[in-house]
Amino acid sequence: MANPKQSLTFSLLQGGAALTSRTWPILGRVLPERLEIDANPSVWADLVGPYTPSPPLEGVINADLAIIGGGFTGVSTAYYVGERTPERKVVLLEAASLANGASGRNGGLALNWVNGIDHSDPELTRRIYTLTSEGLAAMRALIARHNLPVAHRHDGTLTIYTSNARAEAAHAEAEYLNSLGIPVGFLGREELAAQFAARGACGASLEPDTGQINGAQLVRGMRPVLEQRGVRIYEQTPVLRVEPGRTIRLTTPQGEVRARAVVLATNGYTSKLGFFRDALFPLHSSVFATAPLTRDQQHAMGWRRYAGFSDDLDRIAYGSLTDDGRIVFGGGSNQSYAYCFNNRTTLPAAAGQARRAQVAIAQTMDTYFPDASALPISHRWSGVLGVTLDRRPLWGCTGEDRNIYYALGYSGHGVTLANLAGEFIADLYAGDDSRWRGLPFYQGGYGAIPPEPFRWIGYQLFTRLTGQAPRG
Ligand SMILES: Cc1cc2nc3c(=O)[nH]c(=O)nc-3n(C[C@H](O)[C@H](O)[C@H](O)COP(=O)(O)OP(=O)(O)OC[C@H]3O[C@@H](n4cnc5c(N)ncnc54)[C@H](O)[C@@H]3O)c2cc1C
Repeated sequence: MANPKQSLTFSLLQGGAALTSRTWPILGRVLPERLEIDANPSVWADLVGPYTPSPPLEGVINADLAIIGGGFTGVSTAYYVGERTPERKVVLLEAASLANGASGRNGGLALNWVNGIDHSDPELTRRIYTLTSEGLAAMRALIARHNLPVAHRHDGTLTIYTSNARAEAAHAEAEYLNSLGIPVGFLGREELAAQFAARGACGASLEPDTGQINGAQLVRGMRPVLEQRGVRIYEQTPVLRVEPGRTIRLTTPQGEVRARAVVLATNGYTSKLGFFRDALFPLHSSVFATAPLTRDQQHAMGWRRYAGFSDDLDRIAYGSLTDDGRIVFGGGSNQSYAYCFNNRTTLPAAAGQARRAQVAIAQTMDTYFPDASALPISHRWSGVLGVTLDRRPLWGCTGEDRNIYYALGYSGHGVTLANLAGEFIADLYAGDDSRWRGLPFYQGGYGAIPPEPFRWIGYQLFTRLTGQAPRG
């Protein structure tokens, strides 16, 4: 349930966005975007150990399918295309190194559901739940099948509610989902406090088969599996230009790929290639990880069970617990998220934004876990999510020749969805979309985001006016 102020602000901004989007043809050209990619200093990447990216592409090569982007979406697509259509020649181009983007920098929560789709339609609700639980199971099966060195757990995650009214609504929602055969639990205030003592939490819903995963270990661990199957992987290879056609030409700094089909697996970076510029924007989220905590320390701060949690506020706070006892924590305030003018994909250090974000995250963690303020922090980082206006992802195929596949805009649920996206694109590419037909985000529309400067102004207005509002 959104509060009235938030709904009004959102409607006004949507109206403004629709009006100002008419200026796209001019303003989109006046302010060209640059691809900026910084190194990944996350705890996830650190726990992979030393990693040497493969050499960049040099010269001209041909491929049946060229995948742009080496995160969950790109790597899972390469894997499942290899399963469904092993005769096709697949090449994967990554600007920096595998898992350098959000897949190797996130909060680690492997969740159910798809953002932007409410649960009012029982049939669709069951379908989405089944799909995302299958996605979670598929990730675990992949790790087991290839014996990948990936730390992961699935002992459940919580959504905590910060008002009695929202906790009651969540209780009723859990009962409704149970009536559909969906096993979502509800913990009342006391029961919750005994297991997960977050200050101010009035109750929580529990998703039992969700958990936490080290995405950098998964994505980088898949490299030898893909290479064995003949996927040619070029890291340190940014795609500078995509020229659509029956044969698509991809220009890179030292080479070119001529491909019959392309996959945009570039999520928050996609606008740099000229696609979906009015559909999604890069939202920076900042995170830190504590040093490993002993069981006693975890218990003392209140974290006695479960792989992770998020709260019920629009500037969502989230945290997860690694198997070596670190708490990865992010979000929770306007300062911990940022939109940077003209879709910048790195946080400008000089502006002090990254530092302010880290201070704000620590304050949010202290709010929920007052005894955690003295815990040593070992890693601090940020990354970009691809966010759509209504938070629904965008999956499908586009272009005059229907040969540009995409799965983008997961809006915070990409750990499960971007891994599932590989199965989706592989099915579509093989000509069988039966599993996905009718899903609202497959070939779905989207609310248009205006060009700059309206985009930046709209973001500032929305975040300042809605502040700590509950999630809509
Ligand atoms: C801080 C943070 C916390 C998050 N927490 C969670 C969470 O707890 N749970 C959850 O479900 N989701 C979370 N997410 C979202 C989730 O991580 C993403 O939705 C998901 O990883 C997207 O995967 P992807 O492969 O589509 O994109 P990415 O992982 O971003 O990969 C895109 C890749 O494309 C490359 N690239 C971009 N442009 C080009 C180009 N022109 N040429 C070549 N390569 C290019 C980039 O270098 C990058 O490696 C979080 C995201 C962030 C940033």
